[in-house]
Amino acid sequence: MQSQGEFDLIAQYFKRPAPSGMLGIGDDCALLSPAQGWDLAVSTDMLVEGRHFFADGDPRLLGHKALAVNLSDLAAMGARPLACTLAISLPRVDADWLQAFADGFHALSRDAHCPLIGGDTTGGADQIILSITVMGEVRRHQALRRAAARLGDDLWVSGTLGAADIALRLMLGSLPPDPARLALCRNALEAPMPRLKLGRYLAGVAHAAIDISDGLLQDLGHLLDASQCAADLWLDSLPAHAALQGLDEAVRRDALLAGGDAYELCFAAHPRRREQIDTLSRQLALPITRVGTLRSGSGLRVLDAQGQEVSIQRRGFDHFAAPL
Ligand code: ADP
Ligand code: MG
Repeated sequence: MQSQGEFDLIAQYFKRPAPSGMLGIGDDCALLSPAQGWDLAVSTDMLVEGRHFFADGDPRLLGHKALAVNLSDLAAMGARPLACTLAISLPRVDADWLQAFADGFHALSRDAHCPLIGGDTTGGADQIILSITVMGEVRRHQALRRAAARLGDDLWVSGTLGAADIALRLMLGSLPPDPARLALCRNALEAPMPRLKLGRYLAGVAHAAIDISDGLLQDLGHLLDASQCAADLWLDSLPAHAALQGLDEAVRRDALLAGGDAYELCFAAHPRRREQIDTLSRQLALPITRVGTLRSGSGLRVLDAQGQEVSIQRRGFDHFAAPL
């Protein structure tokens, strides 16, 4: 966008005072200084209309979610947020849409102490495209890298699983209409809260972590590959969201194991950390559930209550498969 409109738009909707010690929106680059002895953690995620969000969805929720999914990556690395940038491509300038989007974005940016310090604004494409980069800091050698899980570690999952997947299926019509159930699980899909406090606490406590964005089996698979470990996952121990009650067993199982958009953390920690993690769960008022164990070899086995292996249809969300 090469018009005066672009600069007005940035000033009106996106520009906020930068915190002291940082140079924010308005120069060629933003400037920030991570603390000494800390590493800078950087992550980018894109969201494309029709692929990651509904064109007619609430823009305030979209503003929240676009930042939330990026912050979830900082949480999974054990990093605390420093700042973010936002690149946005808009097919047209719709003031009401932009105001609501910016409100949702800035509200979470404030709550998470992750100020917006730069970005880019353009037009041209037929869909809304968003790309957010988050920067955070994590004490040197304490980042929760995917490759750092060890044999014998416990596997843990925060919060509950499956709600966002069921909400998506209800909204897409691939499950029969069920307004009461949708009311229970819609918030999980539309307004996920990144597990930043948990992630920060786990840095230096857990060995490795990943956030569950594309489905537990798929994301945990990445962690196992990187760590060159295998895992047993106990199906009955998985923390199911209340909205999964009464669903057909195959649907329920699929939501737990392969449902995307959960933004919970899955992490590996030494068994001697169990008590510490249970205490943390109480302090954060957040369920943290032990769901399996790491063993030698490769691959992931899902076991039922009798210890029998369960066969799996779908492992997770594929961004190149059918759009919404
Ligand atoms: P440049 O020409 O150097 O790319 P721009 O004219 O694109 O700069 O942007 C001007 C300023 O506004 C820069 O500081 C840039 O980081 C910021 N900015 C542009 N778009 C956004 C946006 N969507 N959100 C936040 N900051 C933005
Ligand atoms: Mg630019």
